[in-house]
Amino acid sequence: MKNKNPARTDRIETMAGRYNLAVIGGGPAGMIAAGRAGEHSSRVILLEKNEQLGIKLLLAGKGRCNITNAEEDLRKFINIYGSNGKFLYSALNKFSNQDVVEFFVSREVKTKVERGGRVFPVSDNARDVVGCLEKYLVDSDVEVKFNSSVEKIIISAKKITKVILSGGEEVVADNYVLATGGKSYPGTGSTGDAYKWLKKIGHTVIEPKPALTPVVVKEKIVKKLEGLSLKNVEVSLWEKRKLDSCFGEALFTGNGLSGPIVLNLSKKVSENEAKDLKIRIDFKPALDYPTLDKRVQRDFAEQNNKQFKNSLNKLLPKKLIPVIIELSGIDGDKQVNVVTGDERKRVVKLLKEFELSVEGLVGFAKAIITSGGVDLKEVDPRTMKSKIIDNLYFAGEILDIDGPTGGYNLQVAWSTGYLAGAGERR
Ligand SMILES: Cc1cc2nc3c(=O)[nH]c(=O)nc-3n(C[C@H](O)[C@H](O)[C@H](O)COP(=O)(O)OP(=O)(O)OC[C@H]3O[C@@H](n4cnc5c(N)ncnc54)[C@H](O)[C@@H]3O)c2cc1C
Repeated sequence: MKNKNPARTDRIETMAGRYNLAVIGGGPAGMIAAGRAGEHSSRVILLEKNEQLGIKLLLAGKGRCNITNAEEDLRKFINIYGSNGKFLYSALNKFSNQDVVEFFVSREVKTKVERGGRVFPVSDNARDVVGCLEKYLVDSDVEVKFNSSVEKIIISAKKITKVILSGGEEVVADNYVLATGGKSYPGTGSTGDAYKWLKKIGHTVIEPKPALTPVVVKEKIVKKLEGLSLKNVEVSLWEKRKLDSCFGEALFTGNGLSGPIVLNLSKKVSENEAKDLKIRIDFKPALDYPTLDKRVQRDFAEQNNKQFKNSLNKLLPKKLIPVIIELSGIDGDKQVNVVTGDERKRVVKLLKEFELSVEGLVGFAKAIITSGGVDLKEVDPRTMKSKIIDNLYFAGEILDIDGPTGGYNLQVAWSTGYLAGAGERR
């Protein structure tokens, strides 16, 4: 629904008077909320600052859009969000991950489940997800107003009386849904505008922090590994003792690490910011030390006459070999049959405990999600209604709830958006 249809926009812009509901923010949470409200009520308007809807959604899952997770056990689903997860109980009951799949499948977006329960559209194309939501809005007769950045919220007697757009235009509604997202990937429109309004109207905002972000390390050697993607590795975080570990896919960036398991570990990094943290990669988690040592011995024996630098091809990705050789301190030109037992054990140790020192996290610019947001104590979990402002509802990332990768964050948007749009009085 890129703003290609002037007739439609003209109609919206000239429509005078009061709306039943104004939804601020056309991301997944706002689109579901507006569509849901429009199913039961007329005069619903969706205000989006960009000239198209769901820009962040188009980036989701590297453009494939991991719409939810197929985990069937509701308790496990809730636990994955940590201590704030219980806030989602009603929302997930009303509009669960299965309901999300049903929603898309019934609107001709077939889905598939991949490793770790990740649900994607069969087409692997986030555009189909956005297109489906756009059609939902049309079917629900929601009016969408593009290029409409809300600048101010006007309050009187614990109620929002109107919102004012950047051009000075006013939008008046009986109820409002705030679905402006967090402040990560600000280029998508999510610039954290609502935090300042919220504080002004008496809501507590838990400090927004970048979450699910790549990790920057001190060692410059990672530059040589940039772009190397690793499958089935274990990455652990240490500060004297092991703080956390994850198994799965990781990726070397120019200055550190990324990929799903590193993004998930980043929350622990953020919680232990000031400490001297180390990250260890186990490139061969399926093999314990003695087994891996035997495997290396076997490879060496089979390639007896080769130079050490040419003896690791079967075991390691090409890009990693020169780095392991450099860090092992063994002369790469040396014949493999003169590599000593101690030297071989150094190689094994590097493969099991490839250690990097954490410099910090990448900021909001590259954070998949913002942790923090509207204090959940001030929101009714059964309706997403503010306990402070009588006609205000919340949906999506603006709330102080975030999950790991795997479709859990979009599920928050769908479930809370659905409830906010259903609103008790509509
Ligand atoms: C690169 C990337 C990949 C991701 N991949 C996945 C994934 O595969 N699966 C998953 O579960 N999660 C993923 N996420 C997270 C997921 O995209 C977010 O959790 C989700 O988009 C949040 O939805 P939302 O509607 O609350 O906010 P947003 O998607 O941020 O939407 C907020 C909307 O509000 C608009 N807005 C903001 N301020 C104003 C204003 N003042 N006036 C009017 N409009 C305004 C913005 O322009 C924006 O369109 C990813 C995030 C990123 C950055």
